[in-house]
Amino acid sequence: MTSNREKAIQFARENKVRFEENLIELVKIPSVSTDPEQKWAMQQTAEHLVRHLLAIGFKQAEIYPTEGHPVVVAQTKPDEKKLPVLLVYGHYDVQPPDPLDLWKSKPFEPTRRGDRLYGRGASDMKGQICASLAAIESVFSQNEIPLNIKVIFEGEEEIGSPNLAKFIETHKELLSCTYIFNPDAGLISADLPAITYGLRGLAYFELRLYGPSHDLHSGGFGGAVHNPAQVLCDVISKMHDSKGRVTLPGFYDKVRPLSDEERKEFSRLPVTDDYYKQTAGVSELWGEEGYTAVERIGARPTLEVNGLLSGFTGNGSKTVLPAYAMAKISTRLVPDQDPDDVYAQFIEFLKDNLPPTVRWEVTKMSGGPALLTNPHILEAKAMSRAMETVWGVTPVFKREGGSIPVAADMHEILGVESVLTGFGMPEDAIHSPNESQHLPTFHRGIESIIHFIYNLIEM
Ligand SMILES: [Zn+2]
Repeated sequence: MTSNREKAIQFARENKVRFEENLIELVKIPSVSTDPEQKWAMQQTAEHLVRHLLAIGFKQAEIYPTEGHPVVVAQTKPDEKKLPVLLVYGHYDVQPPDPLDLWKSKPFEPTRRGDRLYGRGASDMKGQICASLAAIESVFSQNEIPLNIKVIFEGEEEIGSPNLAKFIETHKELLSCTYIFNPDAGLISADLPAITYGLRGLAYFELRLYGPSHDLHSGGFGGAVHNPAQVLCDVISKMHDSKGRVTLPGFYDKVRPLSDEERKEFSRLPVTDDYYKQTAGVSELWGEEGYTAVERIGARPTLEVNGLLSGFTGNGSKTVLPAYAMAKISTRLVPDQDPDDVYAQFIEFLKDNLPPTVRWEVTKMSGGPALLTNPHILEAKAMSRAMETVWGVTPVFKREGGSIPVAADMHEILGVESVLTGFGMPEDAIHSPNESQHLPTFHRGIESIIHFIYNLIEM
């Protein structure tokens, strides 16, 4: 006799085309959370999700307004309070698609080329939301299972989830759960399933420098008035030393050193420095001395300039001494660094290194601490086994360079650790032009989540 598990897998295989169409529909809505002009799209995406959730068998699905973009919460069995609960997290917002001229097809007109679906959010993380919903639909289309599945989809992850912790805090009862599945992490390659147990934290700043009261003629004033663009370059150039270490005072004081055991784990991951060169499209790597690329990304703190703005940047030339210069600067943090400490270190560094010829301001943007979860919890085993069934390969447990602050918030507020994985990969170009989702991995993802759900019930 065919088991329910096998029937659900069969259902997923028969509905592959429809599942891809669902993803296409979701990617079409330009839910760019940082863009005020796209506010309508945030509401529209939330409404689209609610309709879809109700259509695939969720009994209750609602939009909850916040001070920012709305949150969607749904559950399959709201009346059965005694069942174990699996909470699935997702974010329906996406990064801005800029620069638009580098896209081969339009970011919000999802296009299939080869094995991939191209479009902003196809991988991060509408693909992962759709994979999760396809798996849940497959399970519930076949039979009743003794599990209440809840979902929470937020619309502000790409801007640092400013309202989510408060939302979870005030909806503790609604979100109470036994397990949390967060597919906003990813794989290293299509052949190798992976579960993430460590994530870096983030502290993000905008630094603004003000020089003369207005833009000046560079011939008339150059050499006599300090140029804020130059001051900005000078101060940024001091943020790393010659060994690639960040020079903010005290930056490494609380950094938990890598154990020999962990370094051994890192060396087993199939990502060499050559892999990073190839994936990034660079001829040489750069970074903190004494660590491999995968160690620097997974377990060492870093500082990046994310954007620069000053002076004349149009076509042709204009001899201007700008009045203003701005940089967006972010740090990725590891356990046990505190984003507030890093903010204080950033300010102290600027006090020590900026000359009195400019006036300056710093705005603290998004931030959150790093996270290490226990890779031995039951739900991690359930996912590991599920992936092994689908791939025929034991998954690797890895630490990732990105940040998923919600996992730390949920642990703190709901008291439940998250299983972190996902079916995107480094070559998906998330946050970049030509983002795409590898569709065969999307379908493996759906089957993995189906097995994961059955494993949770049966383990
Ligand atoms: Zn994401």
